Amino acid sequence: MTATLTGGPDLEQVRRLITEIPGPRSRELAERRKAALPTGLASAAEVYIASAGGGVVVDVDGNSLIDLGSGIAVTTVGNSAPAVVARAADQLTQYTHTCFLNVPYEPYIEVAERLNALTPGDHEKRTALFSTGAEAVENAVKYARAATGRDAVVVFDHAFHGRSLLTMTMTAKNQPYKHGFGPFAPEVYRAPMAYPYRWPSGPENCADEAFSQFATLIDAQIGADQVACVVVEPLQGEGGFIVPAEGFLQKVAEFCRERAILLVADEVQTGIARTGAWFASEHEGLVPDLITTAKGLGGGLPLAAVTGRADIMDVAHAGGIGGTYAGNPVACAAALGVFDEIENGGLIERAKAIGDLIVRELRGIAETTDIIGEIRGRGAMIAVELVKPGTREPNKEAVAKLAKHCHDNGVLTLTAGTFGNVLRFLPPLTISDELLTEAFAVIRDGFAAL
Ligand SMILES: *Cc1c(COP(=O)(O)O)cnc(C)c1O
Repeated sequence: MTATLTGGPDLEQVRRLITEIPGPRSRELAERRKAALPTGLASAAEVYIASAGGGVVVDVDGNSLIDLGSGIAVTTVGNSAPAVVARAADQLTQYTHTCFLNVPYEPYIEVAERLNALTPGDHEKRTALFSTGAEAVENAVKYARAATGRDAVVVFDHAFHGRSLLTMTMTAKNQPYKHGFGPFAPEVYRAPMAYPYRWPSGPENCADEAFSQFATLIDAQIGADQVACVVVEPLQGEGGFIVPAEGFLQKVAEFCRERAILLVADEVQTGIARTGAWFASEHEGLVPDLITTAKGLGGGLPLAAVTGRADIMDVAHAGGIGGTYAGNPVACAAALGVFDEIENGGLIERAKAIGDLIVRELRGIAETTDIIGEIRGRGAMIAVELVKPGTREPNKEAVAKLAKHCHDNGVLTLTAGTFGNVLRFLPPLTISDELLTEAFAVIRDGFAAL
């Protein structure tokens, strides 16, 4: 069966502005929104979407903008990717929902089999499906607590794990994620992240010193036998695409293994081909006990997963895990389409090539400005951290101005970082080199205009 695509890869791949940004239709929707939605629901862009695909987003006024955000790392295989649409549309005509806890179905099992095979490690695995990243992280903690009989959860500085009560607690940053929303969940402890660029005694000491502080926190302060799990993003997302100092994650993994503490890799943002590997854990040979995925998994439909060692996952009792919509069949069908798109489209290689192109462009820009502190990331997950000239002082103002310049000129970007001073790039892997190059010309002009 085929669906008629009005978005997807057949959309003309151009940047084209035919009205001011935002245009009159978008402004009209903004007015209606003001009357109907709470102000706390903020959007980065002021344009409203009509269709999207490949590397562009077309707004309701007919402007075509270059997409460097992928709906926050979700439409990795492109918006309305053909295999995703075909599989999901077909599923929509068969049945839309039964609740897997009630009447089970095959697509759920197929997604679990695929994730069990693709995630790092050749041990026996099981996968449970959910709808959102926060839900996956919450459930990873439930599995870890049930399997170890311990309570404590250790997370890191700059971490982002979600907006539910437990995952908001696990998230590091007060504004906007936690402010006024406490009291927070108990038994969550925070260790320093091995963040080379901002390590006080210099990047060369970062891995060892951060590890030593992490070990002291657990052995001396919490008590290792109280700790159920350590939850870490192998490349921190919202925190500003921080790549942990080389060797740090391996030391953490070994430390956990020695103390029977479970290692949970939160790959909600990094997983599913984003970083030039199926999972970012692979870059450092990390084999986590549990791994969470979401964002890129469903190709835009809400799907999330916890994949882990069978002996851990099988401990939780029947009925203790799940949810009404968890592993929805249409979302599962979409995920199978995502796997097809990545494998048939060579998208893992494409993620690497995109990363190389972005880094090359940013290095070129860095020669023209003194506010780029660091360029970092992996694959199609690259960021620049901006600082005040000649210092390491965060330059949030420059990031805000650049993001606005990009938006006004038809390039959709995202910001990040504990100090709000990171501009991050998460293009769909279906974007062309031409569009990427054009987007970075706009960004280069933005730097020049600062
Ligand atoms: C986005 C994100 C989450 C939360 O996912 P939601 O689907 O928004 O609940 C959790 N962890 C990481 C690393 C994320 O990037």
